[in-house]
This record gives sequence, C-alpha cells and structure tokens, in this order.
Amino acid sequence: MGSQGKGIVNPLSLVAAALVILMLAATTAGCTGTDRQDDGKIVVAVTIPPEQEFVERVGGDHVRVILLVPPGADPHTYEPPPGVIADLAGADIYAVVGSGIEFELAWKEKIAAMNPGMLIVDCSRGIDLISTGEEDHSGTDPHIWLSPGNAKVMVENICQGLIEVDPANADEYRRNADAYQGELDALDREIAGALAESGVEKIMVYHPSWAYFARDYGLEEIPIENEGKEPSPRGIEHLIKQAKEEHITVIFASPEYSTRSAEVIADEIGGTVVLVSPLAKDYLANMRHVAAAFAGSGSP
Ligand code: ZN
Repeated sequence: MGSQGKGIVNPLSLVAAALVILMLAATTAGCTGTDRQDDGKIVVAVTIPPEQEFVERVGGDHVRVILLVPPGADPHTYEPPPGVIADLAGADIYAVVGSGIEFELAWKEKIAAMNPGMLIVDCSRGIDLISTGEEDHSGTDPHIWLSPGNAKVMVENICQGLIEVDPANADEYRRNADAYQGELDALDREIAGALAESGVEKIMVYHPSWAYFARDYGLEEIPIENEGKEPSPRGIEHLIKQAKEEHITVIFASPEYSTRSAEVIADEIGGTVVLVSPLAKDYLANMRHVAAAFAGSGSP
C-alpha cells in the first residue's frame, strides 16, 4: 500500500478521509433523538409532574426525565424558557398527555420539528375524552390523569413507548408497569369505597380539574372558575346559593390557582377552603389525600 503514487495523493483516499471526519462529527454531535445520552439512559420529556412519576415508575434506572412544566406552574398558561426547549434536542421520547393541554397545543409541533428522531408517545391513546363544548378551546377536558383508571392507560402507553425505543429492557419495563398498574387498581378500589361510604355526591372546586375523577366515581363537579377566569360577582352569588342548597361545606381550591373567590364563597356559607393539587408528582399519595378530602367534605 505504501507504494501508491510518489507524492501524489490518491483522490479516493481524500474522499474517504472526509467521510470518516463527517461521520465522527455526526456521532459526537448527538443531535438526533435516537442517540443515547452519555450515561446510557433513555431521555424522556414529559409535560407535567404526574407523568414524570409514571415514566420513572416504569423506566426505573434506565430513564432520565425532562419535566417541561415545573412544579407550581400552570400548564394552561406556562411558557418554557428557551434553554429547556434546546435540552429536548437530545430526548429519545416526548410523552405528551395528548388531551389538549394548552402547553402541548402551543409547543408539541415545534418540539417535534426540532428533533425528528424523537418518538412522540400520546398518553391519552385509548382514553375516552370528555368534551367541554367550548368553541374557542381544544374542545376536550385535558385533565385525564386525575383518574386512576386513566392513569393505568397512560402508564401502558408509556410502557409501550419505552419498549419501542429500548427493546433490550422490555421485560423490566413490562414488570414495572404491571406492578404500578396493580397499585393503581388498588387505589381505584380504595377511592371508590371511601366515596361510596361518604355519600358525597357534589364537589365545588375552583379550577375544574376533576371531571374524569367525577365520572369514575359518580360525583358531580361544580366549578367556580368560569372558562379560565374568576367568576363575576353575580356568578359568585349564584354559587353561594347553590352551595347552601346542596349543603356543601367545603370549597376545593388548588395551590396553582387563586383562592380568592373560593374564600369568598366559603365565608358566606360558613365553610372552609381545602387545597388539593391536580399536579402533585407523588401520584398515589396525592390521589389518596384528594379522595379523603372529597369524602370528608360530606359530613357536617
Ligand atoms: Zn387544569
């Protein structure tokens, strides 16, 4: 091989060298979603904290989660800082809630276009969405995760997505998903039992996040917020009248939203405001807490 052309460089070897350099550059840049991160973990982007919990419970040590809407932020209005979106260039999966959350409606396409190699998992696939009938809105109630039955479906979709991207660990993902889905089944039975025993039928809440929960357990949700805004004085008056008629003594609000009108109503009916979070990461414990709060709102 050493005798090739005295001082003349073979043009083919130049091309080959250039190709090698290009390939090395492409590998180290790691700009496609299918490349593993340095730590070998599958990087999964999620929108809200409960999804982070689901992904971590199924993926265990094999996943690293990027949470897009941080704790305490409102996924209906949140805008991410530019750095966070840039982080997603290295993600393997974006698990969208998929039910019409404003954050996803605004950002999903941009995120997908930036990282075409990334698998988009729609966690809402297989869930019967509740229509809101609001024309200026996506038309569906986005709060699907607040029902243990729906959470089971979301966990299943996440499990399928992880298996697709990382089939080598499929058995482990399946085992983890089965175990967590078993815990969700137990939670569902526990909540159904507690609410049936309480006799509570109606819950008055500031932000209407609980329609799926209400559907599963035969409750009626009475929202205070009116299409994302504080109610008018007339609206508050009507709610006070309704609360008195229904013997409602607890008004539910959440840490993510204003409690002003909830407090006004509670004062007028001689009741209390109880905070329940629709977005807490520790899903099982939070849902137990919420169900106990709802069940406890029935007794005088
Ligand atoms: Zn909400």
